[in-house]
Amino acid sequence: MHLGIPQRTVKTRLKKLLMEEWERRWHDGGKGRFTFNIFPEVKTSTCLDNRYLAQATTNHGPTPYYFRKFNLKDCTCRCGEDSEDGVLHYILSCPLLDHLRHTIRPGDSMGQLLQRKRAVLEIKTMLHTLYHQQSDIIELNSSGVG
Ligand SMILES: [Zn+2]
Repeated sequence: MHLGIPQRTVKTRLKKLLMEEWERRWHDGGKGRFTFNIFPEVKTSTCLDNRYLAQATTNHGPTPYYFRKFNLKDCTCRCGEDSEDGVLHYILSCPLLDHLRHTIRPGDSMGQLLQRKRAVLEIKTMLHTLYHQQSDIIELNSSGVG
């Protein structure tokens, strides 16, 4: 079907409408607020090429927070220092991962950390360690399952 306008104009207009709808939904609230606080702007150029970085920016990883939220396990971090025990606990402050934290400080924001190559490496290493050493870092609570 010929619309009487160039195909490129149609593609550009559709892309603009999609970006506007994505932006509207992103700012409307609801799900994804953890990620929204890290990436408040809608951008097609944002690319996370690693599963640990995806976990770090969504709070979806092998943490007690995630296991409890989805009723997978009733557990807490063995350090006992944070009742939330989400991904930020492990990246910013868990003493059980202190030996892997060299440049990251408790007051850092995830947005700042993602700009620093050294911090990104530390995040990947800490979440890799958490994944592979869960039983050393996370303990089941008395009831076991959620
Ligand atoms: Zn801990």
